[in-house]
Amino acid sequence: MYLKRALFSLVLLTVVSCGLKSVEDGFEQNGVHTINTGFVSAFAIPISDSEVILVDSGGEEDAASLKIGLEALGYGLDDVTHVFITHGHKDHVAALELLDSALKVGFAQDEPLIEEKLGKKVVLDLPIDDGERMMVGDVMVEAFHLPGHTPGNATYLINNVMLMGDTAMANEDGSVGVPPEFFSSDALAVKDRIKDLWSRLENRTDDVEWMFFAHTGPLQGTNALKTYSVE
Ligand SMILES: [Zn+2]
Repeated sequence: MYLKRALFSLVLLTVVSCGLKSVEDGFEQNGVHTINTGFVSAFAIPISDSEVILVDSGGEEDAASLKIGLEALGYGLDDVTHVFITHGHKDHVAALELLDSALKVGFAQDEPLIEEKLGKKVVLDLPIDDGERMMVGDVMVEAFHLPGHTPGNATYLINNVMLMGDTAMANEDGSVGVPPEFFSSDALAVKDRIKDLWSRLENRTDDVEWMFFAHTGPLQGTNALKTYSVE
């Protein structure tokens, strides 16, 4: 497990030197805040003065940075009402253990993976369906099921920001690419799902002002999806 993670870091580092867009801790657009937990980012979206939702939790060894990032926004771990899980890889879900009071939302296809990574039975409080729109306070979350990186892989559209998870990565030149293939359960499908996402968005591009990625910095708009898809 440690070896695989170390390998992922190494692969990522290698890719970084090939031009991934770097993460900017605290970067915010439309009320979506980046909390860089070191290896991976979690994203916080305030709902009220005492309630905040997260997209992913970050990994266990990054839990301190999640707490610090939330505190910088004026929230504690207990103020997290919902965690929208992009997929079940450990670096995205391990800190769920700190978020007992939060409802876990995601695609049921990744429940076994989350269970495997956390080493205990995990049942999502709110399994979500493809295309479903869920209101949390005044904030609407729209879910896209894009299996490939994992069977339950998802992106979430919140406040006109698409939270991409590991569905894709952003390059410094403004293009998108796929995560290192070794880490995807179906690497070929990852490419098709990026194209699927574009086909679902091409008639509503005004709805997506930004794309935020779990392991890289953000990109504005959806042009990178279009370019990837028509190549
Ligand atoms: Zn992943």
